[in-house]
Amino acid sequence: MEDLDFALKYPFSSEAKRIIEDMALTDQIVILGVERIKKSLRGESTKRMVLHESGKKEEIASFAAARMILGYLRNSFITSKFSINESKLVRNYIDKESKGTIERVASRFDIVPLRKDGKLLLDLPTYVSYSIRSTHYRLINRKITNGFVEINDNDFKRLVEEAVRKHIEDIPLVKDAPEAIKRAGEKLIEELPKSETTIVVKKGDHPPCILKLLESAKKHENLNHSARWYLAVYLNGIGTGEDAITGIYTQLPDFSEKTTRYQIKHLKKKGYNVPSCATVMSYGLCCAVCRVGNPIRWHKLNEQRKKEILK
Ligand code: SF4
Repeated sequence: MEDLDFALKYPFSSEAKRIIEDMALTDQIVILGVERIKKSLRGESTKRMVLHESGKKEEIASFAAARMILGYLRNSFITSKFSINESKLVRNYIDKESKGTIERVASRFDIVPLRKDGKLLLDLPTYVSYSIRSTHYRLINRKITNGFVEINDNDFKRLVEEAVRKHIEDIPLVKDAPEAIKRAGEKLIEELPKSETTIVVKKGDHPPCILKLLESAKKHENLNHSARWYLAVYLNGIGTGEDAITGIYTQLPDFSEKTTRYQIKHLKKKGYNVPSCATVMSYGLCCAVCRVGNPIRWHKLNEQRKKEILK
């Protein structure tokens, strides 16, 4: 029973695999799998209260069914939404777990930190594999001794969350999917939000760092907090309206219209200036040597150039 409850919370675990290996793929499991993905698309928690053993097993199998549907669809937007939502749920669980259980989940991804002299130390390759793109996790801001990175308990949980997200996102292609999976996948495609982007992105209109972020958004890749903030401040700085900025953010896997609009209104009200290239570089978002000092200057110079051509 202990393994069953563990597998229910962590359906990617070897315990979960063992529990469902002899189960048949029933219509009910596919329905639950679809529901799991739909909740991810809506940004809702996929946590369900299940009491009976058979219900728990179906719930675990619904995770596998959802992955089969995603493996059949190969749609990066839905997969990304699903992996973020499920990894956030795992984070909620591990926030309440004992150290031993967190380590049990982490070991699934070979994240095995050492506890030494009251410190938590993680080997460099594992740290690099699962650290997220954020200033706090950059190696330059970390204490590294003999190939081990010092982390705290919160970092440890965040690394596990990222490992879960990466694992879930890495779905193998399902070539010969059962009919029920194919039907479920095709219906799901209709759930995709239509992009309301009204900005026409032309090469040359924006600096390379911004083009890269717009490209990532188009591919439905997740952007970290600094990247979202920088992109929004830049777009606002060149006079883009709230609806058009929101339209770009609809493409991100964990899009929330309410939060996005609130944040855009907030930064417009505060009148934040576009950060300098040096600051953008410190966010890890600079990707060229433009010698403009500030990304907004790129846009201004480009506008000037266009006017001169028209003269
Ligand atoms: S040099 Fe400035 S404008 Fe160019 S990519 Fe880097 S941050 Fe962007």
